[in-house]
Amino acid sequence: MDKKLHGLVYGMALLLLTACGDGKVEEQISDEIKSADKAVAEPIAKPVTKPSEAKVVAEVIETKIVDGILSSYVTKKVAAHTYVIHGPLEMPNKANGGFMNNPAFIITEKSVVIVDPGSSTIAGRELVKRVKEITDKPITHVVNTHVHGDHWLGNGGIKESFPDATFYAHPKMIEKAKAGEADHWINLMMQLTENKTVGTKAVIPDQALENLQEIKIDDLIIKVHLSEKAHSTTDAMFEVVEDKVLFTGDNITNKRIPRMTDGSFVGNIAVANYALELPVEVVVPGHGPTGGKEVLSAYGKYLSTVYETSKVLAEEGLETYEMKEQLLEKLTDYSDWTRLEDQLGKHIGQSVLEAEEAGF
Ligand SMILES: [Zn+2]
Repeated sequence: MDKKLHGLVYGMALLLLTACGDGKVEEQISDEIKSADKAVAEPIAKPVTKPSEAKVVAEVIETKIVDGILSSYVTKKVAAHTYVIHGPLEMPNKANGGFMNNPAFIITEKSVVIVDPGSSTIAGRELVKRVKEITDKPITHVVNTHVHGDHWLGNGGIKESFPDATFYAHPKMIEKAKAGEADHWINLMMQLTENKTVGTKAVIPDQALENLQEIKIDDLIIKVHLSEKAHSTTDAMFEVVEDKVLFTGDNITNKRIPRMTDGSFVGNIAVANYALELPVEVVVPGHGPTGGKEVLSAYGKYLSTVYETSKVLAEEGLETYEMKEQLLEKLTDYSDWTRLEDQLGKHIGQSVLEAEEAGF
């Protein structure tokens, strides 16, 4: 059944994910969730105790499809049933057609589950082709991690081939998408890509998830972890229980600093800590390579370093624009993460504001 159509398996390796081997192997981890009170109680990201335990099955499946926006990115099998196509770390632009997230799929006994099919109907269509390279089973479920359009606007590309598929998201994601976020993101993608995402229509999920809900699909369970405010107010993380895989959405990113405009540092740090407690071994971040639990602690540490340092410097009387240099000295581990320079100033400002608000 596998590789029946095409899909040439050319590489197989069991990787011990110790340091984040710099794009050498491109696998890494990501994300998490939690409640507001825990968020306030535990603002410091916990270290991973045994990072070397994390293992990823990195079977690379060469695609036969030679054109299209996904064509430069291989399908990687990261666990027994779980496959990820790792997009580029850049912003949506004309050249990438808006594609820059990590669309994924999980093959169960009889069906296929899609996670975050990307930023346009075109991306969703291409993902369907990539699934068909590996299996003839139908796509029956689609789960979306949050309302940002680079993750879910590909839903339409799935729906046109599998009109009976069920689409799931955080209840707030559904609410916000309907209240204008869907249109906002469709327009933004058109601008950023100079109309390369043309034809994309919003297929907004209609199944509102509950925290700790278990979606049983044939032989597998997808466990849902919702948060109130982390990367955004709409975040859902998905645990593929049997595969010990966690899809974090942008609650965790790797090698890329995301915007936090819709989120909370304290809330996101709490979610990173929460994820560290989950019984998973493979972490698929919203952006960047898949890995082990060290992916969770790396991004958690970025957030807590920015938040705690900004707070202390503000108490010492520094203005936010005076803090960047000292922060950069503490963030040398992240110097190769894309968008650090872009985002750090905003993150400092937001941290100071959040710390002040928490003080009242
Ligand atoms: Zn996002």
